Amino acid sequence: MFFFQSIKQYHQDLSTQKISCVDTVSHYLNIIAENKNLNAFVEIFAEEAILKARQLDEKRKSGLPIGKLHGVVVAIKDVICYKGHKVTAASKILENFKASYNASCVQYLLDEEAIIIGTTNCDEFAMGSSNENSFYGNVLNAKDNSKVPGGSSGGSAVAIQADLCMISLGSDTGGSVRQPADFCGVIGLKPSYGSISRHGLIAYASSFDQIGIFGKNINDVTLALEVMSKVDDFDSTMNQQNFCDELSTKIIDPEKKYKIAIFKDVMQHPFLDKEIKEKIFNTIASLTELGHEFIELDFKEIEYVVPTYYVLTTAEASSNLSRYDGIKFGHTTKEPVSNLNEYYIKNRTEGFGMEVKKRILLGNFVLSSGYYDAYFQKAQQVRQMLVNKTTEIFKTCDAILMPTSPGTAFAIGEKKKDPIEMYLADIFTVFANLTGIPAVALPMYQHSNGMPFGLQILTNRNEEKKLISISKLLLNQ
Ligand code: GLN
Repeated sequence: MFFFQSIKQYHQDLSTQKISCVDTVSHYLNIIAENKNLNAFVEIFAEEAILKARQLDEKRKSGLPIGKLHGVVVAIKDVICYKGHKVTAASKILENFKASYNASCVQYLLDEEAIIIGTTNCDEFAMGSSNENSFYGNVLNAKDNSKVPGGSSGGSAVAIQADLCMISLGSDTGGSVRQPADFCGVIGLKPSYGSISRHGLIAYASSFDQIGIFGKNINDVTLALEVMSKVDDFDSTMNQQNFCDELSTKIIDPEKKYKIAIFKDVMQHPFLDKEIKEKIFNTIASLTELGHEFIELDFKEIEYVVPTYYVLTTAEASSNLSRYDGIKFGHTTKEPVSNLNEYYIKNRTEGFGMEVKKRILLGNFVLSSGYYDAYFQKAQQVRQMLVNKTTEIFKTCDAILMPTSPGTAFAIGEKKKDPIEMYLADIFTVFANLTGIPAVALPMYQHSNGMPFGLQILTNRNEEKKLISISKLLLNQ
């Protein structure tokens, strides 16, 4: 029986011929089939995954050097382009649309011999916190099928939670990797804005979007980050220097003592579940005993982060999604139309789901003359204020520690009727996207309600090395 522990162990088992890539892929295909009810995958590339596994087994046996992700079974969110395969952003408007090129991150994974086993379900255009906005239906939390897996990268989180692959990719615009990771009890990393190329990622809000990684083991997540964080001319917003190069082999001093900020206004927030608060404070106490220093700071701005996020991201989304007109690509109406405008309207009305329509309307509203200054410009000012605040904090602190979500995974349908409540689920995650800093959700605890949860670590922009070091310390990995 195959049991995945870590990429390192897997490579050892391959080299001693205890297992093969073909056996491994067959194992995952079986488990995926057994867990079909979770609805984590949109498509599975069974035949080609087996074929690729066979080629890799042959290559390894011939003694050639192997790639860093040799035979590693990866699932990618249905917003990331994989040449010749469908990419639909879980939307009817892109039904049957096939990618004509590889996203840069996919290319880097393939270059290191990863096997892409399929695409994962998500909220339509990555808009949502519960995976209830997908054209393909809900994804179920594997721990409790009546609960949501979080969103928008719910399928990718469940793919790791239910052991359906080794590593999965998501996208994180406001928490879509970290929040589902928290709800499913797995690691979810959002790197700094500009660390991983967005070329080939279907855009939601371009100045926020960042590809993120799910895994069970921090070393595996680090390795995947190292592979994907190459400087890429196809994305002009990328770092011009690679801060994650050879990250997995960098020596991290386990004895280092950190100075970590916590926010009073977050830890005392009325929405924060009492048990989550208590468990995090226990961890803070243990770390203090080990010699790490915690300082408590004000974060009055916490009340503004969600509105700021929704003003700016909907504005960007309204522009990004204008390309789906049913003419260049996308869903086309079968209804008769009398003019071009009507054609656009019908295509878009039929193709987009309710949440996406709502955000396009809101985005157009905040950008319209008369409201631009009051909403969009104001929100940009708040964003800058948060960036300045962050810069100040990291002048003296190594990291910030806070909860990932205010509560554990909620029941399917529970928040669907109240968009404000749903949006507030992002209250602790949007800060990292507004400021571009890296953040990771670490699975640490179990709630008395039976669901997993963890905490979130944030470091200064491009300080992934520190982020990983602190994660290792917390996870004992
Ligand atoms: N839940 C947030 C939203 O709906 C975050 C989405 C994301 O990170 N893609 O916008």
